[in-house]
Amino acid sequence: MHVFGPVPSRRLGRSLGVNHIPPKVCSYACRYCQLGSTLNMSVERRNFFDPSAIAAEVEAKLEDLKKSGDPVDYLAFVPDGEPTLDLGIGTLAEKIKAFGIPIAVISNASLIGDPEVQEALLLFDWVSLKVDGATEEVWKFVDRPHKKLSFDSILKGVGDFASSYEGHLETETMLIAGGNDGDEQLEALASFLEPVSPAVCRLSSPTRPPACPDVACVDEERLAVATATFQSHGLNPMILNAYEGDDFTRTGDVRDALLSILSVHPMKEAAVARFLEQEGDDPDLVEQMVVDGDVVKTDWRGDVFYARNLRNAKDREKY
Ligand code: SF4
Repeated sequence: MHVFGPVPSRRLGRSLGVNHIPPKVCSYACRYCQLGSTLNMSVERRNFFDPSAIAAEVEAKLEDLKKSGDPVDYLAFVPDGEPTLDLGIGTLAEKIKAFGIPIAVISNASLIGDPEVQEALLLFDWVSLKVDGATEEVWKFVDRPHKKLSFDSILKGVGDFASSYEGHLETETMLIAGGNDGDEQLEALASFLEPVSPAVCRLSSPTRPPACPDVACVDEERLAVATATFQSHGLNPMILNAYEGDDFTRTGDVRDALLSILSVHPMKEAAVARFLEQEGDDPDLVEQMVVDGDVVKTDWRGDVFYARNLRNAKDREKY
């Protein structure tokens, strides 16, 4: 399954997710990643899945949702890894755009120095680029990038893309205590982003279990300092630090639907319970999925979270 949701999104309202990257192929291994460890670290752009087949899946799902009267605000490319690693992202974007719903993509920006990547991203109505650090040292510490990536090329690529893009551009910065939340680091970030001039600069701290258990969230005071620093550079910071809520929609087979959401979107225990309640499914199904090795269960900051066990995902083997 390459389509999941709709899921509640803090940025995109009710978004139908498009997952076009196998688990978990990424150019970064961010300390805070909610998907867990990067299983396949790569900077090689490749064709992973057939764009026509994914587009047909999206179309079928939209038909189902239309019948049930479930609205979709965005079709969001939020895969199991970095979306721009997919050579077919532009083709897929063009096909999906034809359904008449705005399309969005959340990228880590690691490949944005490549003009072909920029060209593909220009097709989207809404683009979010990750910028966790404005110095190479912070970038390497927080995002743990593939060694072939060039930090200077990324910074230049973000600037070049911003100057030609006419859609809604956001940046996202995940703040981790002791990593990128110091005064100097915030000042450097805001100085870099000032000429980029995104419509919104999202500032957040992890709300789900991170890949590195020692990652510490920043407190409200640090978020306030970050906000003030960004504002002093004429930027429009917004705190993205709340759990999205539990309003997950399901269609089709319950096990597949739950797994496809958990693949990119770890859920709290209450959210899973509510999801299973919708159609009167077995409330113990998720525990059975844990026993089967398809789902992992984690206690984090007083909450229980479920996530897909990407190590056991059948579709990762060939990548
Ligand atoms: S947070 Fe995003 S960019 Fe970072 S490792 Fe996870 S999937 Fe990759």
